[in-house]
Amino acid sequence: MSIVTDSPVWRPFTQHALQPGAYKIAHAEGAWLTAEDGTRFLDAISSWWVITHGHRRPEIMAAIRKQTETLDQIIFAGFTHEPAEALARRLVEITQPGLDYVFYSDSGSTSVEVAIKMALGYWRHRGETRARVIALEHAYHGDTVGTMSAGARSVFNAPYEPLLFDVARAPFPHAGAEQETLDALEKFCREGAAAFIVEPLILGAGGMLTYSAQVLREMKRICETYGTLFIADEVMTGFGRTGTLFACEQADIVPDIACYSKGLTGGAVPLAVTMCKREIYEAHYARDRARAFFHSSSYTANPIGCAAALANLEVWEKTDARARVANLCAMQAERAARFAQDSRFSSVRQLGTIVALDMTVAQSGYLATISLDLMRFFNARGLLLRPLGPTIYVLPPYCVTGEELDLVHAGIDEAARQFGG
Ligand SMILES: *Cc1c(COP(=O)(O)O)cnc(C)c1O
Repeated sequence: MSIVTDSPVWRPFTQHALQPGAYKIAHAEGAWLTAEDGTRFLDAISSWWVITHGHRRPEIMAAIRKQTETLDQIIFAGFTHEPAEALARRLVEITQPGLDYVFYSDSGSTSVEVAIKMALGYWRHRGETRARVIALEHAYHGDTVGTMSAGARSVFNAPYEPLLFDVARAPFPHAGAEQETLDALEKFCREGAAAFIVEPLILGAGGMLTYSAQVLREMKRICETYGTLFIADEVMTGFGRTGTLFACEQADIVPDIACYSKGLTGGAVPLAVTMCKREIYEAHYARDRARAFFHSSSYTANPIGCAAALANLEVWEKTDARARVANLCAMQAERAARFAQDSRFSSVRQLGTIVALDMTVAQSGYLATISLDLMRFFNARGLLLRPLGPTIYVLPPYCVTGEELDLVHAGIDEAARQFGG
């Protein structure tokens, strides 16, 4: 087995004392990863949610190759290039009407940092002192200090707690308790919050927790009433994951600011955008240099990333991508239904292409060893699954076939036989 143990690499979200090794992958294609020795893994979580159509989608790979023949990175202040201009125009067209400006960066976290900075800049330049951010319980918005502040407080960010800024925290809208969420949101908005940041329809890292489009719509309405800016963090939900191209479409709302990253290039290379309404851009527009938006990532609008993203948008426009997503939603529903009446699982839920379920076990919480045990169990069966504590979720690339999906769901069934209690 190709496992690397002796390595200077410090890996993300990894306790090296418990997980000393990492599989060394040499090849990726479609829904599969292949290790150096030929061992294969079915990538049932789209390599941490980024791969949309499948690994090494030919059109995207070709666009990257072609772009490398003319431009690598160039400075993006005072200079621009066609891939960035064309991509921005296309993004304005395909997102909900009103998101008219595109700010480039390079990861989901930076796109959220940019969103928060845009919101605070907006209020300051309008001469109002609004600086409070509202976020949801169980939220995840990234791992930088600003995004951790908006995210739920947990063991993941406990050491940095002294640095995290305070946010107003609204309870998660659990089924039947939605009004509490809306009431809390309304109270914070009435008190003059600058912005509300939310993952639309599903909270990802917080445990694949879903809530309805009506609640999302109501949240937007409340924010509008009090002028609080509505930031949609579509970093995970964007590009088909929830069944529609963007999750906000399902609630028929237009956020004031939206963040997209995973899936923007089909998952091939890093790129992110923060899009916003005209008023937010205009609040920064003045002959006064102090009102400029002071943010830049070194790799802002990387031409190769932009070319990959343009090719991805073409895949959405010119191929059967939407039909594939619809088909995957149906295939997932069929398979999830089998677990719905199964006492070894609770809260079997689906949102678009994502299925999640909680395994009934004695321990709970991410730190309980169950997630590591499950991960090893799945890996040994050639499945790349990464449970969040006892929550197992299947978030596959859209190229996955019914037979491949059967392998995943059979693996989950077997795991329940071994670990369920
Ligand atoms: C992954 C994620 C982020 C952070 O994106 P990175 O590219 O890992 O920095 C932010 N928000 C949400 C909802 C995410 O799922």
